[in-house]
Amino acid sequence: MARVAIVTGGTRGIGRAICEALAADGFTVVANYAGNEEKARAFTEETGIPAYRWDVGDHQAVMDGIARVEAEVGPIEVLVNNAGITRDGTLLKMSFEDWNEVMRINLGGCFNMAKAVFPGMKSRGWGRIVSIGSINGQAGQYGQVNYAAAKSGIHGFTKALAQEGARFGITVNAIAPGYIDTEMVAAVPEAVLEKIVAKIPVGRLGQASEIARGVAFLSSEQGGFVTGSTLSINGGQHMY
Ligand code: NDP
Repeated sequence: MARVAIVTGGTRGIGRAICEALAADGFTVVANYAGNEEKARAFTEETGIPAYRWDVGDHQAVMDGIARVEAEVGPIEVLVNNAGITRDGTLLKMSFEDWNEVMRINLGGCFNMAKAVFPGMKSRGWGRIVSIGSINGQAGQYGQVNYAAAKSGIHGFTKALAQEGARFGITVNAIAPGYIDTEMVAAVPEAVLEKIVAKIPVGRLGQASEIARGVAFLSSEQGGFVTGSTLSINGGQHMY
């Protein structure tokens, strides 16, 4: 029987590409989203993939949501923590609410989702957890202390949980995308975007499908010897 994969923030952008790649690889895929009903409806109509609404930053909502998905679709064997938001501003201008909201969703969401699916993965002796970090969590970014801290936190979370999951057959990895052609990047002013592209050695933005292929590999049977790792997919913009 096909393994069940859940992708948070799966109804648009990079998450949608991940859903499509995992479905193409034979997984039974479920998407989660926050509240954009129009995008969620279009996504399900176009892909046939069901979409479940809950806030990944809300611990109880995640527990209830995962219980519902597992009852209706089956035990979750692959978790992709993709949901993320930005609330940019320099430290001087950033409110405590903007700091907290980004930490709650981008990093707290990974904890909540992993907490909900890890026991089942452990009891079945197999699991894949892939979280989407960011180049800005590796290198930092002006005006993003909240986002950079949360994404950097994902990389630490990944290495710690990989150690806990290894003996139960659960691999835990992260992907650090560079600048990808999505709505999140479309919100960046044109002049700023030109400067960003000029710093990417391959000379272009990445495509969501290029992140999705990385996720598909880390979610596969053949990816089983990779754990605690961060795969940078950034056109060479940041190497280390
Ligand atoms: P988008 O803004 O296009 O999509 C975000 C998705 O996350 C939507 O499906 C949204 O749901 C969902 N979401 C937002 N908040 C929550 C929440 N609280 N609970 C559940 N779902 C939520 O994002 P991208 O595709 O651009 O980015 C995807 C991931 O990749 C993010 O983690 C981002 O930080 C990371 N990333 C993106 C880069 C880029 O260049 N775009 C670069 C590096 C990293 P809804 O539609 O209902 O709002």
